[in-house]
Amino acid sequence: THLSDHVLADARLRGQKEAVIDAATGEVLTYQDLVRDADRGAAALAAAGVLPGDVVAVMSHNQPRFAVAVHATLRAGAAVSPLNPALTVGEIVKQLMDSRARVLLVAQPFANKGLEAAQRAGMREVFVIGTYPEHGSWDELVAGVLPAPPPLDADPDHALAALPYSSGTTGASKGVMLTHRNIVANLEQLRLAWQMSEKDVLCAALPFFHIYGLTIILNAGLLAGATIVTLPRFGLRPFLGAVQRYGVTRGHLAPPVVLDLAQAAEIDEYDVSSMRTAVSGAAPLDEELAARAEERIGCVIRQGYGMTEASPGTHCVHDEDFPVTPPGSVGRLLPDTEARLVDPGSGMDVEPGDAGELWVRGPQVMAGYLADSEATAATLTDGWLRTGDIARVDDQGNFFVVDRLKELIKYKGYQVAPAELEAVLLAHPDVADAAVVAVPHPTGGEAPKAFVVTGRAVAPQELLDWVAARVAPYKRIRSVEFIDAIPKSPAGKILRRKLKNS
Ligand code: ATP
Ligand code: MG
Repeated sequence: THLSDHVLADARLRGQKEAVIDAATGEVLTYQDLVRDADRGAAALAAAGVLPGDVVAVMSHNQPRFAVAVHATLRAGAAVSPLNPALTVGEIVKQLMDSRARVLLVAQPFANKGLEAAQRAGMREVFVIGTYPEHGSWDELVAGVLPAPPPLDADPDHALAALPYSSGTTGASKGVMLTHRNIVANLEQLRLAWQMSEKDVLCAALPFFHIYGLTIILNAGLLAGATIVTLPRFGLRPFLGAVQRYGVTRGHLAPPVVLDLAQAAEIDEYDVSSMRTAVSGAAPLDEELAARAEERIGCVIRQGYGMTEASPGTHCVHDEDFPVTPPGSVGRLLPDTEARLVDPGSGMDVEPGDAGELWVRGPQVMAGYLADSEATAATLTDGWLRTGDIARVDDQGNFFVVDRLKELIKYKGYQVAPAELEAVLLAHPDVADAAVVAVPHPTGGEAPKAFVVTGRAVAPQELLDWVAARVAPYKRIRSVEFIDAIPKSPAGKILRRKLKNS
């Protein structure tokens, strides 16, 4: 099926039910509005020259009109390529050119940047979501009465629905080709794992321009008939305020948000009793931190795991499992998904219980990287997607992500996982946040160095000793640097390359 037809199949029946609410402005988009505006938007895009098979770039913070832009694009037969508004003009130009986007839809706060980038990329069709002087407004286009476009017959196995770019944590970010079939399959897999319903209220504190927000919050939420409350960006008070005001039932989080929830005193000022469950994904989540946050918000936090290349979900803690899933696990495989754990050296499966590189296979796995057959061949083998992450699995099928293959620190041939050391540092009462990276070491080759954010002054030696008392000698941190904040991506990943280059 076509992704938009699938997600909005019941939308007309839902009528006046709120689909997306903007927590910042109070703007409400009902299911009926969404279908109407998506159809009008599709007609407007077609009138602007968008043909089936084209790419439409969308650059916006989370807001109801993001949902309209996505479904209008899909209904015009085009694929959505979301852009992170925090990118520099040069990076935006690169992505626009790489994706060969025909139209850019840019939210008003980023219009200057978007218009400049589009001009440099040689694109003529730019519409601003919101009002912007002397420029084509998307809102006016959508409001204009235009005939609905002809029904689509996208070939769901091959036609692209989305062209997101991976986060660029391990190198340059890559255009990931996701078909209608890929994303629809993932939505169905998630639907079997989590019973979400029209009674649910979700809070979209994580960006829709990342695949986690796009599939797991926006489209899964719309498919279930839930109400999605958007925050333009994450802030602890706005988040807690939205939970209280709209009765949010499911939280979609990432580790930095969990960190805030674990440490914040503000929680006591809000009524968050509507929260039934919360999910964290995108980066490793420390168990103790999760436990502290759970206690404060009064509901369980369970993990999910995935990547842009898998639409994104491959693992999650299924509803029926969460009382028995061991802490720290990212859960079991989604239905219809297979996994292998491979020894990166020999290419053979590891012994049961051992850790290896996680390979996954299933209908949600991408068609490939855009215009990069070399990277595609290095990542996809016989349908298996090499995740680049090291994982292990227990005999119940619960997976544990150890760290990223590329981020393992090799000290005298031993492998040290930064995530493990970060968890040890976070357990220190004065450490507010931490990140560990590899730095050159005279005898070890490379060794772990910690960047630490503290609540009050702490001697570096105290932290070195704290870690040394808790890990094997080869894992010891060799140096500590104090900084004001750990650089993170909008989806919550530690930007280790920035730290290494600092
Ligand atoms: P790039 O591939 O461009 O270098 P990226 O891999 O960070 O960037 P994404 O596709 O956004 O881009 O992220 C996928 C990665 O996020 C996974 O490969 C994994 O390392 C990490 N991840 C996701 N969920 C979890 C989780 N629950 N625990 C640990 N790591 C996770
Ligand atoms: Mg990746």
